[in-house]
Amino acid sequence: MSEWFEWRDAPRAEFAVIGEPIAHSWSPRMMTAAFEALRLPYRYVAIRVPASEFSQALDHLAALGYWGLNVTLPLKGLAYEWAEHHDEFSERYSMANTLDMRTRSAANTDAPGFLETVVAAGIEAPSQVLVLGAGASGQSISMALADAGYQVRVWNRTSQNAVNLINRIGGNSTSCTEPDPQDCSLLVNATASSIKGEDLPVIWERASPGALAYDLAYSIYPTPFLRTAFQHGLQTIDGREMLAAQGARSLEWWLQIESPREVMRREVS
Ligand code: NDP
Repeated sequence: MSEWFEWRDAPRAEFAVIGEPIAHSWSPRMMTAAFEALRLPYRYVAIRVPASEFSQALDHLAALGYWGLNVTLPLKGLAYEWAEHHDEFSERYSMANTLDMRTRSAANTDAPGFLETVVAAGIEAPSQVLVLGAGASGQSISMALADAGYQVRVWNRTSQNAVNLINRIGGNSTSCTEPDPQDCSLLVNATASSIKGEDLPVIWERASPGALAYDLAYSIYPTPFLRTAFQHGLQTIDGREMLAAQGARSLEWWLQIESPREVMRREVS
């Protein structure tokens, strides 16, 4: 567990990641390493903000002089609504994971950061992708994949949410009532199952050996999803790559400088 603060007790700092829960976040150590590498005197902390206190907390952090926030679950929709200006990705997905408090602007670096890691892993469009989850991340990465030409199949525990998402995406994307990975080159766990220590009912027997299982969650141990995928002969990757990619893009958006990507990747690997 890393050090974190309640929003009412937030210290003076320039940057923070906010969410609930927040203790699991590795962003403070990754961003602190980035600022050190860039020789910038900025402080980045983790702050617990419940959804019901979002706007009060943001007013308080703005008054304390915070400049930039990363926003994690379950606050990305609220962050989008709070902002008065949006980059093209947050506008497209109606979700924001990065805020500039000074200009009341929002960006979504999750989706382009995720896509960057998929291409780096050698999975190119128009491969078929099974996305598990239709929450904030499931929505933005499904839309990003479909926009980039991948064939997207979405499964969600509450199936109506997958149907609603597919109606928004359109094109040849589909929803499925059981998580069937047949013919998919990539399976993405965008649910909160891993942070609860739970597995998913994927029909692993139908997965292609050598396909890539990608869990957006990360921890020092393989997640239940990745453990089971590995047992079925799949390649595995966890959310640290995406964490580094979205963090690098957030820094670039706030500061208009090139991020020390290797330092950031190393810090979380
Ligand atoms: P949300 O709260 O917006 O969505 C949660 C999703 O998980 C919903 O689809 C929900 O389904 C589903 N879900 C919750 N519990 C279970 C369960 N036990 N079994 C199956 N499905 C479940 O979360 P986010 O989209 O913000 O985050 C999802 C995951 O992605 C988290 O693990 C988060 O840590 C990770 N993440 C990682 C990032 C990175 O940089 N590496 C960036 C962003 C997210 P239902 O609709 O039925 O409730």
